[in-house]
Amino acid sequence: MNLPQWCQETEELAKHLRLEYWNMSVGLPYSEQKIGELEAQSGKQTSAFLAHFKEPQDLVDDCIGSVAGSKTFKEGLALQDARKKIIVSSKHKLKRNPVSWQTWRQFAAQANDAERKHVYDEFISLSKKIAPIVQKKFSVAGKTYADYGTNPLDAYVRSHRMSVKHLRNVIGELKEGIKSEFVKQNKHYSEVIFGREPHYYDDFYVIRNKLYDGITMPKLDPVKSVFATIRGMGLSPDGILLDAEDRPGKYASPFMTSIVVPTDVRVSYKPENPFSDLNSIYHEYGHAVHYKSIKADLPFWTRNCISEGLAETFSIFFDKLLMRPGFLQHIGFKDETAQELRTRTRYKELYGAAFYCANSLFKIDSWEKQVPFDELAPLYAKHVKSCMGLNIPGEYWLLHHILPDSLMYVPSYMLAEMQVGELHARFEKEHGPQWWTSKEVGAEVDALMSPGSDSPAATFEKINPSMMIKQLTTER
Ligand SMILES: [Zn+2]
Repeated sequence: MNLPQWCQETEELAKHLRLEYWNMSVGLPYSEQKIGELEAQSGKQTSAFLAHFKEPQDLVDDCIGSVAGSKTFKEGLALQDARKKIIVSSKHKLKRNPVSWQTWRQFAAQANDAERKHVYDEFISLSKKIAPIVQKKFSVAGKTYADYGTNPLDAYVRSHRMSVKHLRNVIGELKEGIKSEFVKQNKHYSEVIFGREPHYYDDFYVIRNKLYDGITMPKLDPVKSVFATIRGMGLSPDGILLDAEDRPGKYASPFMTSIVVPTDVRVSYKPENPFSDLNSIYHEYGHAVHYKSIKADLPFWTRNCISEGLAETFSIFFDKLLMRPGFLQHIGFKDETAQELRTRTRYKELYGAAFYCANSLFKIDSWEKQVPFDELAPLYAKHVKSCMGLNIPGEYWLLHHILPDSLMYVPSYMLAEMQVGELHARFEKEHGPQWWTSKEVGAEVDALMSPGSDSPAATFEKINPSMMIKQLTTER
């Protein structure tokens, strides 16, 4: 078997498969049969690679992930389907349709307290109907990794060029560094938003939506704004496809897909709330610009085996600009609004960090300690309590949009945020308060994006959370 030929065939297969998944996720017609055939072909393709090659390591790990993916794609589809058809409210509606997992966030943004609680409780009790699907998916995936002598956690830290010990340490330090400030601010903002103490059904996504009520947004097209920002740094958003239609079957969260890196890169979103949309668009275009910037002549694996921490570095690099009053004024916000947004966004970020510390420690434990499936909900509740001081039903993890879908993923946001905290601080020091208009900054960012997985930003063994803790807990 010859590696360049294998890469070419694999890239072609991946293109067709990614297109089907794209159509499925944006609510366009797709074929389950075709997905089944392509997944089977891709499973054969990756198994053949693993039988012949022991390196490059990134590709070996990626292929193990694909074999696991091809053995569990049916459960993935069943989960997607169950979220539309089983996780459905018996009582509450949005736009005349019963509220489902797909429309939960849009509903929560406009529902009252009692309605939100009702839907939350109902969904928690329905989660037991999707639990067997998730259980099968995780056990088959875990066994596949074990067959190749590894596990999802070890493969994850390998792709981030770090150790499990360091991963645990940095998440643990972050958790301790932000907890008391989070608990304080969470109490404060619960009063501001809901006029009461925090409750278990005020999840991150409700807070994120409600937090900006009453703030006047300038008339701003989020897509035009992010284009201007990207161009201001001397980078280019050209050629990225945007799907902004609000179709009924469309995935609730915004996302970016690369069909072929770097030539076919796409962004999907549906409107929730003006400031959230601005954030999402900056985030997803950060991903898109990254994948667009990767050099086309690099080997298949260097373009495609991008660790999640490296990928999130560039999305967060752009969305974190919206934490800066100076930047908000630069894109058209009034001074006063910019300060208020900064304060509220800092709370949102703090909430996200505390929540994702819990999510990360949950994932690390579940693989490292091989926790039996029925102990996962109590384990999740324990980590949420310990990181956020909140008592929530542990089954919530089954309703999250990443935890039951991905084997690891969640620590990547925190790793990337630590890296971005350091980059922003350095750029400000070297290029002044308006550093985001500097072409030199753009060139430096491009130098981190274009090498794909060979980027200097792909190594997380030296990452530390101190800058991130400082940025989240001190008023500026
Ligand atoms: Zn992202």
